Amino acid sequence: MRLLLVEDDATLSARLKARLEQAGFAVDTADNGIDGAFMADQEPYGVVVLDLGLPGRPGLDVLRQWRASGNNVPVLILTARDAWHERVDGFKAGADDYLGKPFHVEELLARLQALIRRSHAQNTGPLLQVAGLALDEDTQVVTTATGESHALTGTEFRLLRVLMLNPGKILSKSQLSEHVYNFDSDKDSNVLEVYINRLRRKLGHDLIATRRGQGYVFGGGH
Ligand code: CA
Repeated sequence: MRLLLVEDDATLSARLKARLEQAGFAVDTADNGIDGAFMADQEPYGVVVLDLGLPGRPGLDVLRQWRASGNNVPVLILTARDAWHERVDGFKAGADDYLGKPFHVEELLARLQALIRRSHAQNTGPLLQVAGLALDEDTQVVTTATGESHALTGTEFRLLRVLMLNPGKILSKSQLSEHVYNFDSDKDSNVLEVYINRLRRKLGHDLIATRRGQGYVFGGGH
């Protein structure tokens, strides 16, 4: 997950960058509002941490410009401590969350993780759509690219959902079994093959490729 950090306090920026990288983010930094505004327009960041008091261009202006141009990247703003008006202005400008300075980095990390989860849930919408299939997770019905609908059994549904959440990745039989079965069910890998073949009969053989000795890959040439 790529993260843009726009913060002019060099000491704070370096400390946050190191900690965010430890937490698994690929971090780019900007120390002024002009560079920050430009970078988020050029690169597909997953999330932005934006200080409001910036040289060059105030953070609020930068945020307003992103939103006006349709850039909906999740943004957490850093505000002065107890400056409630900054928080109100920030939300009105399109911020998704805020943190008052000074703050604990652990709180920043927790807020970023929650923000990212929320933004993905929004983008997914009511249907999981991958490789021409649309899976309704409430009714457990899958619709193909040609408009045919198929009701799935519970096991078929769990298996297809794991595959659709990981398109193009090799999933071993044991990985798939972990996701598909309860603790107390029979995790015989031959049973998994039976379910894979049932999905292939319903949805087309090419959609789930077998990688001999490794497992299965969903998505075919999509
Ligand atoms: Ca500042």
